[in-house]
Amino acid sequence: MESGGAGGEGETAGWRFGAANPALAVAGSQSIRAAVTRIYRCLDGSGDARPVAPLAHGDPSAFACFRAAPAATDAVAAAAASGKYNHYSPAVGIAPACSAVAAHLSRELPYAVSPADVVLTAGCNHAVEIMMSVLASPGANVLLPRPGYPLYASRAALSGLEFRHFDLLPDSEWEVDLAGVEALADANTVAMVIVNPNNPCGCVYSRDHLAKIAETARKLGIMVISDEVYDHFAFGSKPFVPMGVFGDVAPVMTLGGISKRWMVPGWRLGWIAATDPNGILRNKKIIDSVIDYRAISVDPVTFVQGALPDILAKTDDAFFTNALGVVKKAAEICYEKLKEIDCITCPHKPEGSMFVMAKLDLSSLDGIEDDVDFCSKLAKEESVVICPGSGLGMKNWLRITFAVDPQLLEDGLERTKCFCKRHGKIKEAS
Ligand SMILES: *Cc1c(COP(=O)(O)O)cnc(C)c1O
Repeated sequence: MESGGAGGEGETAGWRFGAANPALAVAGSQSIRAAVTRIYRCLDGSGDARPVAPLAHGDPSAFACFRAAPAATDAVAAAAASGKYNHYSPAVGIAPACSAVAAHLSRELPYAVSPADVVLTAGCNHAVEIMMSVLASPGANVLLPRPGYPLYASRAALSGLEFRHFDLLPDSEWEVDLAGVEALADANTVAMVIVNPNNPCGCVYSRDHLAKIAETARKLGIMVISDEVYDHFAFGSKPFVPMGVFGDVAPVMTLGGISKRWMVPGWRLGWIAATDPNGILRNKKIIDSVIDYRAISVDPVTFVQGALPDILAKTDDAFFTNALGVVKKAAEICYEKLKEIDCITCPHKPEGSMFVMAKLDLSSLDGIEDDVDFCSKLAKEESVVICPGSGLGMKNWLRITFAVDPQLLEDGLERTKCFCKRHGKIKEAS
């Protein structure tokens, strides 16, 4: 019989592939998606009739109360129907969209951002990827917040960029431990990352604190990468202040996008903007490198770019006011419900973003080993999914999102309370 078809007959030297990129193993271990997926697997499929309370990841778009603004969906529909945006995107993004982002950012800064300093990305995650790749020169390191957004560490690991974690301080409203930043930095440090309003802590940095961050960066000769994907998602006493306000003190790369504020994470549109009135990032060829990297990576969908000027200009304030109102109410429910649970403490009432960090007191629980065990059993017994803090470098903490339908949030936290009671240590009778 001739060889071929199913099953070869010749000898093989053995299949040579299979050795994965070792950097990927490190990067994957930092992935929050992997941690949350493991918790989802614990859900008891055998017939809990109650709806799953998804308190682990921040995607409110599933809930009717967070439906996207009609002006935004109309803009995308019109852009797609126009036939004008079926082409490939230029490497920086289409010009009207870059100009719209520059104008959008400039409104709140004491100087104008040039459209030439804006690069559109396939979501803010792509912006994170680009920055961690661009800064990966041999020997360089970046400083990342802990707790933080794990994608920074994953992408740094994949790019061979060393990362070091500084602490956010739970007893100081989760501000940056600036003394820690100075202690961590050395001659090879090129950047520090902040997330404001903050995922996962739910804090919003004051103007005063941002000024101090800028002074520290200046002293160290590093840039600030400011992740502002939650810009204006502030519902406490502190208003959102963009880091770019201090761009003349130290150069700032501002990362943003429409995923969170417009509640359309599936549209995959974000940006990187140099908010740097002295042009240091341009002179140091950082913008060129961003464009070079962007040119060899994925493009944001062209018709969403085409819609962007209208999305930014025409979404009415009522949409934001309403969404922020619902999130604020949800944050309050979350904080109040957590107070009722003895084994969980929340050091700071959330005032921004969609998340809060809460500490688990294992000594008051029986038979729960750690945060992962807590979240696994909670999912199995109560159909409540919470992200274990160890996924963010915070063992025995929990990250909870409150950007969930308020009724389901309250119900999920009530079930968490029952779970904690059931697993609570029996107090000795006195
Ligand atoms: C959600 C999120 C992102 C990613 O945003 P996309 O536009 O959906 O890619 C980046 N940074 C932080 C802190 C986030 O919470």
